[in-house]
Amino acid sequence: MTGSVVIVGLGPGAAEMQTPQAAAALAAATDLVGYGPYVDRVAGGPEQVRHSSDNREELDRARHALLLAAAGRRVAVVSSGDAGVFAMASAVFEAIEAGEAAWRALDVQVVPGISAMFAAAARVGAPLGADFCAISLSDNLKPWRVVLARLQAAAAAGFVIALYNPLSNARPWQLGAAFEVLREVLPGSAPVVFATAVSRPEERIDVTTLALAEPARADMRTLVLIGSAATRCIAREGGRAFVYSPRSVA
Ligand code: SAH
Repeated sequence: MTGSVVIVGLGPGAAEMQTPQAAAALAAATDLVGYGPYVDRVAGGPEQVRHSSDNREELDRARHALLLAAAGRRVAVVSSGDAGVFAMASAVFEAIEAGEAAWRALDVQVVPGISAMFAAAARVGAPLGADFCAISLSDNLKPWRVVLARLQAAAAAGFVIALYNPLSNARPWQLGAAFEVLREVLPGSAPVVFATAVSRPEERIDVTTLALAEPARADMRTLVLIGSAATRCIAREGGRAFVYSPRSVA
């Protein structure tokens, strides 16, 4: 039997936001590998072996998946959202590049998923309708000065910014510092969206402005969208504002 690795994006949470391709790949796997809460999201069959691990062990987890596949197993490595966006797909390829020569011959596929930025954007309108970028605020894997330089450059260049990993218990101050840098470059009226646990029962979405944005509103399940100077808000009686970025640039 030839082993394989499929790296699967589970989407933001709700079952209907998982693609049929992802569901089929999960059903075909003999082994599920991933961060515990993500593995728990897969219904799975009684025959499937689950290998749950801690969130910080990405490379070990990737190597484990490749060893299983080299031994003939059909392994699904799971990530939330899209598996290629701040998630496991990079770790698997990093492990292949640095690992055993035989791993390069394995059948390795990536199955895309709905990333948090797309699920969040769809809730409020079309904030990503013009040029945008995604930045992870986590400084676990890159120096904080790099994060700040990218934020500044992206805002100055007119990109809408999707901020992943805005805050955690171990990183409580970064989002406040990010807002400070952005306020130097963008107008206080730039729309800011806090989208927490999108598509899950605890979902909460708030639309505010950069001037009023409170870092404490976010937690580790929050995607923060920062509009550009061109991003528009349409206020609505008794409802959340629509947020969109016009496609044309003056
Ligand atoms: N691969 C994932 C991102 C993993 S990084 C994706 O494509 O979505 C983890 C970060 O993703 C979280 O800190 C949060 O910023 C964001 N995130 C993941 N699921 C989310 C959801 N349901 N709602 C809002 N943000 C989410």
